[in-house]
Amino acid sequence: MLPNFISRTRLVALFSALLLVSTLAQAEAPPAKLANIVILATGGTIAGSGASSTTTVGYTSATVGVDNLINAVPELKKVANVRGEQVFQIASESLTNEHWLKLAKRVNVLLAQPDVDGIVITHGTDTIEETAYFLDLTVKSRKPVVVVGAMRPSTAISADGPINLYNAVLLAASKDAIGKGVLVSLNDQINAAREVTKTNTSTLDTFKTPELGMLGYIQDNRAHFYRQSTRKNTLDTEFDIGNLDVLPQVDIVYGYANVNRIALDAFVTAGAKGIIYAGVGDGSLAAQIKGPLAEARKKGVIIVRSSRVGQGIVARNGEANDDDLDFVTSDTLNPQKARILLMLGLTKTHDTKALQTMFSIY
Ligand code: ASP
Repeated sequence: MLPNFISRTRLVALFSALLLVSTLAQAEAPPAKLANIVILATGGTIAGSGASSTTTVGYTSATVGVDNLINAVPELKKVANVRGEQVFQIASESLTNEHWLKLAKRVNVLLAQPDVDGIVITHGTDTIEETAYFLDLTVKSRKPVVVVGAMRPSTAISADGPINLYNAVLLAASKDAIGKGVLVSLNDQINAAREVTKTNTSTLDTFKTPELGMLGYIQDNRAHFYRQSTRKNTLDTEFDIGNLDVLPQVDIVYGYANVNRIALDAFVTAGAKGIIYAGVGDGSLAAQIKGPLAEARKKGVIIVRSSRVGQGIVARNGEANDDDLDFVTSDTLNPQKARILLMLGLTKTHDTKALQTMFSIY
């Protein structure tokens, strides 16, 4: 029963007025503006194809072109204006320094354009952490850059590429991703380029930031951040690859029981400007490698003590007297990422104190 002070006619008039106001409000509200995201495709398993839908190993990487990757996920159009570019089409284990320079230059050109809001890079997972860290140190923009891959080829049952690509575009379009450095996203998770590493040869949850932890999740069509890396990246680094066509040669020597100097000497003879020593434990040096490393240093080669362990800080002047040897330590960077920082560092200086500072700020 209506209270008798409101007549039916008045009620109808009231509803009509409310309807009109809400229709006008909707008509005047600007349409939601979608972010402009460029997808740079480089190959990898996300663009791979197998002999059958159950082929999840032994497939061929880097066969599907960027337009097909985008067309396979029509949902992308709901979250961003996407367009694709094929930068290269290779398995990521075959990437070289020259590929990194080309990719970083293209990212910088695109991000300088006002009509580009973010970049997604599709990439093989084997070296995704290296490419992401290289970009983290060389991209000159705070706009989001998300590197994404897949563990299953596009032809597999439950291929993870489409959802990973969708999530990566969501993330690149998210305001929360601005200024977070280069991000790696797979398996609904967000990790920082500096810290993420591949931990399993083949499972979908292979990407982890051991101990320090990932940055967040992508869930329910949204990026959820919980932390961020404290290390300098992108606009806050001193590295400028704009005029570089080559990077200084830096190689990795692996430590193990019964290690010998053969690989080290070969790298030095071949012209290495820097050596990352992936030592056992806390970057410990076997008696038979310490002398050869010191000799290489005296010839001008920069030596960085890192660790094959994968977690923890390599203590300066801990397992070796780095001050006396004039060595640098890698902080928490694993050998493959220490190599990237040393290559870029050597484009600026050969001073070991300045290089050591870089390992504590980047
Ligand atoms: N070998 C492949 C690559 O890195 C593996 C992958 O993408 O998952 O290109």
